[in-house]
Amino acid sequence: MNANDQVQDLLNFIDSSPSPFHAVKTIITRLGDQGFIELDEKQKWTLATGGKYFVVRDDSSIICFTTGTKSLDCSGFRVLGAHTDSPGLRIKPQPVIKSNDLLRVGVEIYGGPILATFTDRDLSLAGRISYKSEQGQIKSQLIHFSQPLLRLPNLAIHMNRTVNEEGLKLHKQNELPLIISDQLTDQYFSTLLEQESGISARQILSWELNVYDTQKGAFWGDKQQFYANSQLDNLASCHAGLEALLNQSELKPENTNVCAFFDHEEIGSESTKGADGSFLSDVLERISLSLGLSREAYQCALAQSFMISADMAHAYQPNFPSAYEPDHKVTVNKGPVIKLNANHRYTSESISEAMFIDWCQQAGIPYQKYSHRSDIPCGSTIGPMTSANLGIRTVDVGNPMWAMHSARESAGVQDHSFMIKVLSIFFCNS
Ligand SMILES: [Zn+2]
Repeated sequence: MNANDQVQDLLNFIDSSPSPFHAVKTIITRLGDQGFIELDEKQKWTLATGGKYFVVRDDSSIICFTTGTKSLDCSGFRVLGAHTDSPGLRIKPQPVIKSNDLLRVGVEIYGGPILATFTDRDLSLAGRISYKSEQGQIKSQLIHFSQPLLRLPNLAIHMNRTVNEEGLKLHKQNELPLIISDQLTDQYFSTLLEQESGISARQILSWELNVYDTQKGAFWGDKQQFYANSQLDNLASCHAGLEALLNQSELKPENTNVCAFFDHEEIGSESTKGADGSFLSDVLERISLSLGLSREAYQCALAQSFMISADMAHAYQPNFPSAYEPDHKVTVNKGPVIKLNANHRYTSESISEAMFIDWCQQAGIPYQKYSHRSDIPCGSTIGPMTSANLGIRTVDVGNPMWAMHSARESAGVQDHSFMIKVLSIFFCNS
């Protein structure tokens, strides 16, 4: 596939993944097509060398891996980490608000979205519902409304005269509820869920739903060299990692290669399925046990392992020069970015940085180095916590993008192809 085909595939991947639950479902479909076998955390695992497997925890985090031909205590794990969630709006437990002749849906803010970007967009809902089956069991099912269902209309400029001078400020409690209907019926929301899911409203007990933008991904620019969609942070990294893993899986590489895609990064990763939880360490240890390694051999394997934490980076936007460190600007379509921070908000150090540079050179692609302005607080990633928990050497990297945490983010076509190339080298290199 050329770079355009790879990005079109990424846009399709995002368009079929309107929630973290759906992102994992999309990933499972692709893994299934390539012969990966699902493992159940509740069952004993029997793994073989040269095998292809995946494990899901609570529907929205997934770890997929291929077992290498070389013994783990000699090769270690090659891990690519990224996250399946994106900041935005989540539906409140009792969401329906009747006001005058309109129904609105109450929302809670998830992570740190740019709220103003959610106004005047064709929004809808996706996520998971839980229900009691006719046999009395608690079950869950994904739900995805494909039509635009919700809207956050802006206030007209005639009532908000200073909006262009002061920016759009939205009160988080009062001004975020989304308009959904002019029908003031009782049991509105559960009936809505019943119609979409086919499960009767009396059986539906709970849900986790997020708001998503129904606009599909697009290429833009005079040569169509850029692309835009929601959730580029961080489904673009998940897609690049998955592509690299699938590309190498037929080659039966020596390394045991792992892609770990976690939910809950945008809210701090502290959960059963977040990157700061036990999921990755549990899976790595169980791979070792199933392949017959002792506890000490597992520790040897960890000590030889390497992790790439892939999350998007801030590309230079020339309209806002003062927001950037002037000597560390990173540019769209100029290659993956190595993220560096002396306070280890990013986990890269000189050795992991040098190893990533070496892989970029082997892949024949450019790379860039990013440092945040010293007078603005820096973001973080899953890199520091996973490397601290596992003791695995890690580098933080990511592709440059504009408008991180906007409802509509954008990035460069070439960079996505570069990232897939370097991750393929990482997985195949002995
Ligand atoms: Zn991110």
